[in-house]
Amino acid sequence: MLEIRGLKKSFDGLEVLKDISLQVRQGEVLGIIGPSGSGKSTLLRCATGLETPDGGEIRYEGTFGLVFQNFNLFPHYSVMKNITDAPIKVQKRSREEVFAEARALLAKMGLSDKEDAYPYQLSGGQQQRISIARALAMNPDILFFDEPTSALDPELTGEILKVIRDLAAEHMTMVIVTHEMNFARNVADQIIFMDKGVIAQQGTPEEVFGSSNERMKEFLGKLG
Ligand code: ADP
Ligand code: MG
Repeated sequence: MLEIRGLKKSFDGLEVLKDISLQVRQGEVLGIIGPSGSGKSTLLRCATGLETPDGGEIRYEGTFGLVFQNFNLFPHYSVMKNITDAPIKVQKRSREEVFAEARALLAKMGLSDKEDAYPYQLSGGQQQRISIARALAMNPDILFFDEPTSALDPELTGEILKVIRDLAAEHMTMVIVTHEMNFARNVADQIIFMDKGVIAQQGTPEEVFGSSNERMKEFLGKLG
């Protein structure tokens, strides 16, 4: 579904990604963990074309959706317009079909009553569920999340993790950068531990979390 080979990226001479290679199969969940500044967001931004790599290959099948840490909803659009705008304008799909699908997504997110609300009227957890609905409305083949819960209070984090867990149960292909270690361990098929621009550890959750890699142990120790 997604294949990255030999990805390199520098900013002003600082090598942020050094020869990153990874693969995600259809229906698989890849969890990306690692300290702040290790290159996780840059990796997602290169994979989704928001950033131009300096070298390497990125191949994926179909289309992708992206969910950011800070929701990135359009503040002057209603919930419904946030979800339906791109499918109608970019994908040129019929308004009726897109609205019906958006209502089904809102129901799935438990937010049917928020159709006409504006982002500022919603909690962070609700805004993030809308931004997931917006990504899903494009019918993506793969969904990327960059720390989807880090802007949320702990009590709102659980509702987002549940939505992502449900998507995993439906075999949605996902790449998730997260600081939620228990979540990563439980939901991911494959984990990558990034450190200073390289993949320092890669494998199943059991392999990565059970590893004796010093940097990994230090990282997990700091999270407490
Ligand atoms: P992470 O998401 O793991 O915290 P990032 O990918 O955001 O790490 O950043 C990795 C490194 O790249 C950091 O040193 C950061 O300052 C640098 N960086 C990221 N984006 C830019 C940019 N647009 N311009 C310059 N430096 C950047
Ligand atoms: Mg980041």
